[in-house]
Amino acid sequence: MSPFDYICLAAGLVAAVAAIGFTLYYHTKTKKILNRASKMIDDAISGSFTESVFDESLLSSVESKLAQYLSSCSVSSKNLAEEKDKIKELIADISHQTKTPISNILIYAQLLCEQDLPEGSAQQAAALSEQAQKLSFLIEALVKTSRLETGIITLAPKLSELQPLMDAVETQIMPKARAKNIALKVCDTFEKACFDPKWTAEAVYNIADNAVKYTPRGGIVELSVTAFELFCKIDIKDSGIGIPEDEQPKIFTRFYRSPHVAGSEGVGIGLYLARKIVSGEGGYIKVSSAPDKGSIFSVFLPKEP
Ligand code: ADP
Repeated sequence: MSPFDYICLAAGLVAAVAAIGFTLYYHTKTKKILNRASKMIDDAISGSFTESVFDESLLSSVESKLAQYLSSCSVSSKNLAEEKDKIKELIADISHQTKTPISNILIYAQLLCEQDLPEGSAQQAAALSEQAQKLSFLIEALVKTSRLETGIITLAPKLSELQPLMDAVETQIMPKARAKNIALKVCDTFEKACFDPKWTAEAVYNIADNAVKYTPRGGIVELSVTAFELFCKIDIKDSGIGIPEDEQPKIFTRFYRSPHVAGSEGVGIGLYLARKIVSGEGGYIKVSSAPDKGSIFSVFLPKEP
């Protein structure tokens, strides 16, 4: 090798060592910044994030932007939590403050109805009583939905047998079915699913109540359970008035009532609440229906948490 070759070799070695050194330095610095960024995100998730000062390098400016972003996120989540607390208080106030006046209106309306009133007044007293009951039901349902939405009430799904749920719904719905001479069939089941018994009973009851309400006298309402691999399905089938296809997506929205049911009582919140409950448990509700052909509402409940 000539002296020139040695010089080139030495220069190459120096360049290689410098490159390795630079790469190692850069790698360590990047790793440190990534670790800091990861810690910032962890702190933001746990709610203990505080912004710190960074140097002027490009990586540090990315770090600083991430810090600003996380800082604004933590402020808005704090504001959100405060807003949520205010809503919770408001709901509690509405629920508490309306309870006594509404029960008083109900009692006085009932007392009026029991009086020997002239015909016109008797009708007005009956209408007053009916409207007061509607108002009471509406406020109760709205408070329930808001409590579910704001997390004041949390669903506690657990693996449970479906038979007690079916029995509870049957007991609740039977008087209304009998009053309309509707045949109520509830099939036995040994299946289990993962659900909150109290709230799911309310959801299934709301659907079964509709089935009885929107089925003419002498009709049939049937409740049955089918198990699939991941879900158990509760079918609530009726021989009632049915629902046109274009209305089917709307019936689960708050306060929606079909123009075809204007003559029957209701406020349009039952299905909204039912869907809220079932989806909060990881399930879903499907409907299959046609006008004058009856309806099948299927409640799918997960078999595992
Ligand atoms: P409500 O029954 O108080 O009106 P819901 O939220 O329970 O409110 O139902 C919304 C609408 O869906 C009802 O007004 C009705 O038009 C329709 N609906 C629900 N269930 C049935 C059913 N089984 N048969 C026919 N229509 C139904």
